[in-house]
Amino acid sequence: MRDVTAFQKKHQVGEGTYGSVFVGADKVTGEVVALKRINTEAEVNGFPITAIREVKILKALNHDNIVKLKEIVTSKDHTEIPKNVFMVFEYLEYDLTGIIETPEIKLTQDHIKSWSNQLLKGVHYMHINKIVHRDLKASNLLVNRRGELKIADWGLARSWNSEMKRLTNKVITLWYRPPELLMGATQYSPKIDCWSVGCIIAEMFRRGGFLKGHNEANQLDLIFQVMGHPNELDWPNIHRTCPLWKNFEPKKGEHSSKPSKLRDELKNRLPTNAVNWMTPHAMDMIENLLAYNPDKRYSAAQALTAEWFFDSPLVKSADKLNMKF
Ligand code: ADP
Repeated sequence: MRDVTAFQKKHQVGEGTYGSVFVGADKVTGEVVALKRINTEAEVNGFPITAIREVKILKALNHDNIVKLKEIVTSKDHTEIPKNVFMVFEYLEYDLTGIIETPEIKLTQDHIKSWSNQLLKGVHYMHINKIVHRDLKASNLLVNRRGELKIADWGLARSWNSEMKRLTNKVITLWYRPPELLMGATQYSPKIDCWSVGCIIAEMFRRGGFLKGHNEANQLDLIFQVMGHPNELDWPNIHRTCPLWKNFEPKKGEHSSKPSKLRDELKNRLPTNAVNWMTPHAMDMIENLLAYNPDKRYSAAQALTAEWFFDSPLVKSADKLNMKF
């Protein structure tokens, strides 16, 4: 294992849950990397379990749209006992939240379509490899100067199979969290990530968060307001999947099925140039990624064959995107 002194450490770029992230350059090759420090000193239980998971999962994944973990390096003090451990990643210059929230950056339909496609390819790859990410959001999607989008921050990811019955419920950042998790599900599927993808794609069009709740109750309320109340006709397993459904279930005789306003909402408050980009096929795909019933919700594979991707303008490869921001 190499020592961190193999890299020339430059400035700090971010703050992670278990340590800071620095930019560095390989002293031999000059390659620029991101060094994520895993702070073992602050940890009472030794090496953080989330870091172990992240390393294990990233070592098993190899895809153009998943951030590459290149190696692990350590830093030793004078006693030669490893003091810090660093994860060395390929370096990406931007994150999607930064891009979305910088008004000077001219985002085009080509960017939105290509990044949606790249995101779905990464998600499809991890799902066929039975990994759920559980924290997909715009700030965890990194973009480089070559226009490539890569999924980062695998600290909450885990391997998954359909027999798993008691998974942690408190996963996925609020705005991107699907209704089954908000209604207490502990037996869930990779489709939780597909809901997050729907929110992220809507966010790119709007250039801002889509379903921006303040707390769990408010987030669910917002979803109900936009998409109408869920019902057992459309989601027959809702009882079994969502322990909290009984609190939201309409009382006998009450009529609950207000129609979904999702398509109107998707068209609402868009930047002027994006109004024409939000075509019926774009809305179809987002609507299917934001289906209440996880069994009916589009998988990444289904979304990749959505008509939107075959409409003009066709998906451009990353290197054809204008990245001169
Ligand atoms: P945590 O898992 O603790 O949230 P992240 O992996 O999200 O940590 O990293 C924290 C921040 O560091 C990110 O938001 C990003 O700004 C920066 N960062 C992480 N990985 C890279 C990378 N490969 N290239 C450039 N910046 C990165």
